[in-house]
Amino acid sequence: MTPLVDGFGRVHTDLRISLTDKCNLRCTYCMPAEGLDWIPSPELLSDDEIVRVAGIGVERLGITHIRLTGGEPLLRRGLVDLVGRLAALSPRPQLAMTTNGIGLARMAQPLRDAGLDRVNVSLDTLNRATFAGLARRDRLQDVLDGLAAAHAAGLTPVKVNAVLMRGVNDADAPELLDFCLAAGYELRFIEQMPLDAQHGWDRKVMVTAEEIIERLTTSHRLTPLAGRGSAPAETYLVDDGPAKVGIIASVSKPFCGSCDRVRITADGQLRNCLFAREESDLRAPLRNGAGDSEIAVRWQAAIAGKRAGHGIDDPTFLQPDRPMSAIGG
Ligand code: SAM
Ligand code: SF4
Repeated sequence: MTPLVDGFGRVHTDLRISLTDKCNLRCTYCMPAEGLDWIPSPELLSDDEIVRVAGIGVERLGITHIRLTGGEPLLRRGLVDLVGRLAALSPRPQLAMTTNGIGLARMAQPLRDAGLDRVNVSLDTLNRATFAGLARRDRLQDVLDGLAAAHAAGLTPVKVNAVLMRGVNDADAPELLDFCLAAGYELRFIEQMPLDAQHGWDRKVMVTAEEIIERLTTSHRLTPLAGRGSAPAETYLVDDGPAKVGIIASVSKPFCGSCDRVRITADGQLRNCLFAREESDLRAPLRNGAGDSEIAVRWQAAIAGKRAGHGIDDPTFLQPDRPMSAIGG
């Protein structure tokens, strides 16, 4: 086994696999109202290709955690079987999923039975009209039902991801926290990043981690927990614990120095950073008869070339061509 180490000594153990770039919501910070030009089906990795490439990661390259994401991963046909096949890899990776929760009410138990360990469900507000405006679909109740089903199925700890948009849902942060505390979900706020397809992100408008903390401390006592490790979230005890809340300050306090993540897009392109402008094609070798060791070497080379950081603050920063939904968040 040869670990995936880059030129800065960072070891990569966390693989994010995008299962589709399609989605049934249109969150304004992610996609335009009309959707995007979806990746044509023949270009998508098949289940066999996903299992093979994940197997190479687990068996040869030290991948210990796999997160399924998208687009919306619950839209992938045959998802339960795919999860079962990934859970059967050896050594067994920890399996998690990031989802908007729509359809999870029905899928949570079968996914758990197939071997999924945990879920992160995205929920930005509890206000139905605000949700419908932000996600451009009136589906709040489906998300809440999905969350409850995930908790009941034992996909725990259930984490909730929230992105705050100034003047839209930023005032909803304390209510979201109270809801998660009462339901036993772990809430994490994510700073909005320049990864929207419309290129509408504006640093000056972004709600910062500092502001989020200010808002939450109007109603709760937050105590920072030391030892963020490679975890992106700064974690705080709420009202002396045991409940916690996380803030992922990807922009104002980047965690690139301890990043252990690597991503594979739904069309089989390896990305060593969310903000990378280059990708390494794994689909071609997968389809051209390359052996596992050749694919592993290609993967290692892609990690070796990883940059020190995302460079959002550099004057030369350019947003990647692929939006978040096509990279796999
Ligand atoms: N559709 C699934 C979902 O929404 O959870 C999975 C894919 S989505 C791209 C993954 C995560 O990225 C979600 O929590 C979403 O809120 C977050 N996200 C999307 N666009 C973002 C942006 N521009 N900045 C920060 N987070 C973003
Ligand atoms: Fe879909 Fe997730 Fe993007 Fe929202 S954030 S549009 S749910 S992919």
